[in-house]
Amino acid sequence: MPKKSTAATETWTGTCLCGAIRFTVSGEPDFPHLCSCSHCKTRGGSPMQWWIGFPLSSLTWTGEGELTWYDTFPSGTKRGFCPVCGSHIAALDYGDTTIGINVPALDNHDDPRLVPTSQSFSDDAVTWLPRVTAGQHSTGG
Ligand SMILES: [Zn+2]
Ligand SMILES: [Zn+2]
Repeated sequence: MPKKSTAATETWTGTCLCGAIRFTVSGEPDFPHLCSCSHCKTRGGSPMQWWIGFPLSSLTWTGEGELTWYDTFPSGTKRGFCPVCGSHIAALDYGDTTIGINVPALDNHDDPRLVPTSQSFSDDAVTWLPRVTAGQHSTGG
């Protein structure tokens, strides 16, 4: 069904490593940031995770598989991953209108609008990596 086009409408596609999970989101990416909280580190198996927000209403799952969701904060936040290959795809705060996407799940994760502008839980970050400080990267140029 054709959608009314607006200047802000832009479709982004993404997938997990094995391809079972595919999705599209649209609109302007919101609040690109790194997070080094204990949940991101442990579930990601990495020093931090890289997040971007899109309108939840724009999200469509297009693959043959379904995410497995895990409540990292029961009744607060759930995180979704591919049950086949384990790729981390998404996070959703219950009741929120924004879906958090793990940026590497996007097919195009080199867009300058995805460059992290801040780092959440930087106090919990490993000491051997530099921090992203607020405003360090400007998406304006
Ligand atoms: Zn997969
Ligand atoms: Zn986190």
